[in-house]
Amino acid sequence: MVSSIQSSLGTERKVITELPGPKSRALHERRKAVVSAGLTNGFPIYIERAEGAILLDVDGNQILDLGSGIAVTSIGHAVPELIDAVSTQVAAFTHTCFMVTPYESYVEVCEELAALTPGTHAKTSALFNSGSEAVENAVKIARLATGRQAIVVFEHAYHGRTNLTMALTAKNMPYKDRFGPFAPEIYRVAMSYPFLDGLSGADAAARAIQQIETQVGAHNVAALLIEPIQGEGGFVVPADGFLPALSEWTTKNGVVFIADEIQSGFCRTGDWFAVDHEGVVPDLVTTAKGLAGGMPLAAVTGRAELMNAVHEGGLGGTYGGNPVAAVAALATIKTMRDRNLVARARELGEVILKALRTLQQDVAIIGDVRGRGAMIAFELVQPGTKNPNAAAAKAIVNYCNQQGVIALPCGTFGNVIRLLPPLAITDEQLADGLSVVASAVRAAG
Ligand SMILES: *Cc1c(COP(=O)(O)O)cnc(C)c1O
Repeated sequence: MVSSIQSSLGTERKVITELPGPKSRALHERRKAVVSAGLTNGFPIYIERAEGAILLDVDGNQILDLGSGIAVTSIGHAVPELIDAVSTQVAAFTHTCFMVTPYESYVEVCEELAALTPGTHAKTSALFNSGSEAVENAVKIARLATGRQAIVVFEHAYHGRTNLTMALTAKNMPYKDRFGPFAPEIYRVAMSYPFLDGLSGADAAARAIQQIETQVGAHNVAALLIEPIQGEGGFVVPADGFLPALSEWTTKNGVVFIADEIQSGFCRTGDWFAVDHEGVVPDLVTTAKGLAGGMPLAAVTGRAELMNAVHEGGLGGTYGGNPVAAVAALATIKTMRDRNLVARARELGEVILKALRTLQQDVAIIGDVRGRGAMIAFELVQPGTKNPNAAAAKAIVNYCNQQGVIALPCGTFGNVIRLLPPLAITDEQLADGLSVVASAVRAAG
């Protein structure tokens, strides 16, 4: 339908104006009059269309996307199966409210979630609109099911921007500053951050557990909430053994282990979920981002006895599991399976890690290269130290943008660059993108 009217964009990065171009700049002026200044744009080029890993802006520039709209369009832009599923569903019906009159696609998404998330136990799900909403509901469910209140979170964590999830998120600026008061009964403990703490997974877990036991008390803890690989916090990959040790501790102490897989889930790390790598089976899993190919959908999936402990009517929302988003998720999951994007993410990861590690040997500002699958980042430091170098990160992102490549910064100290290409990116596109990143790093170094 839509895809057959317009000609293909092709697969090449192509910069034909200065960036942002004149039309984008004009739109940005219009925007300033009516869009809150509280929302920023990393790269204010206005997008008209997208295909695969290429974004076409209003000035005719073709931009290479190494961000996937923050790990959302993992299957790539304009996937025919998703276009067809969504178009057909829009024509059939766009909304009934699942809490009023249900429809099959909602149930089917929950069947897929039960099958794909770790563990063979009975699982049920509830669908929502955003990642933050999923995290909030996971906390609600854990508190109700355990009758306890304390929630343990980690340094560098990011769980969203609503009132409860701001409290769960670690970083003050820009997420929390002057937005309080925040929700109570949230306790933050040390994360395993091998580059900075040098600890083994077992030692880092022992440190966190000691903090919980001495400062909170295990019997007060409803849930331990953790991103198996941290996203906004800087793609921090905990040392091997950290997650299994925490998982074991939660099981022993009747604490709900919630894996926030909103950024790391759905093939991104070369497994369906990042916890799969170490065989960790969470009690609850939150998902969103990559789940529905760009349509807003999020989920909490977990042990049926926890999920079903909630009284009738205790969970819900007007739009949660919207039928258009639900069929988008089904098409996304099918595409991931048909194209074996788990394997593709691993291949991409090998290429990216090799390129960045080679680069690291030549430049003094890359302190660490880390990540798994197509979720890879490098941390920028002052040469010869581990001190953060946010200025270099900024310069690299700007350089990439000027060359028509989207690269995203992250990290508590703003000194990490993350690469989150669509898993549909071609080998040629990836090589092109990595060569721009390498030039950017050399220029900054
Ligand atoms: C993005 C993100 C969220 C919040 O999701 P929204 O859809 O932006 O509300 C929560 N947790 C993690 C790990 C995320 O990456």
